[in-house]
Amino acid sequence: MHLEGSCHCGAVRFSLEAHSPVPFMHCHCSICRKTAGSGGYAINLGGDAASLKVRGRKHLRVYHAVLREPGRRSTRSPAGRHFCGECGSALWLWDPRWPELVHPHASAIDTPLPRPPEVVEAALDYAPSWVDVPKGRGHVQCGTWPSESLEAWHKRHGVRSA
Ligand SMILES: [Zn+2]
Ligand SMILES: [Zn+2]
Repeated sequence: MHLEGSCHCGAVRFSLEAHSPVPFMHCHCSICRKTAGSGGYAINLGGDAASLKVRGRKHLRVYHAVLREPGRRSTRSPAGRHFCGECGSALWLWDPRWPELVHPHASAIDTPLPRPPEVVEAALDYAPSWVDVPKGRGHVQCGTWPSESLEAWHKRHGVRSA
């Protein structure tokens, strides 16, 4: 599926081809909440990194999240969280460990996305108590992250895009 995206101020525009365009995974981890999630979660989609085209690249900034675990030295995540340096909109994540993939934030996509047949509420162990986590029919709750990849989920639901 062809996706077009942009930041809020319009300095950065991008497009890509995405095989996993269904916004089904609500990530409640602290990185997503603080950098992109506000009221709770952020949603990443699965796309083809080679197809990514960017206008306004000079406005991009990249954040490598600081990972803090009790009793361990802080480290930097290899994953680059790309955002607009002018308006702060979260745009996409690219990780050199999976260089063929790019994960745009659903919030930055302007193309209408398919509605998910089921939503996964992920990383709930990291959600603060004030977050109103969606529950009930069609919502799968997960303390951390499902072992199934974005792509495998799309295949299982028969919604993988060519
Ligand atoms: Zn912007
Ligand atoms: Zn997250």
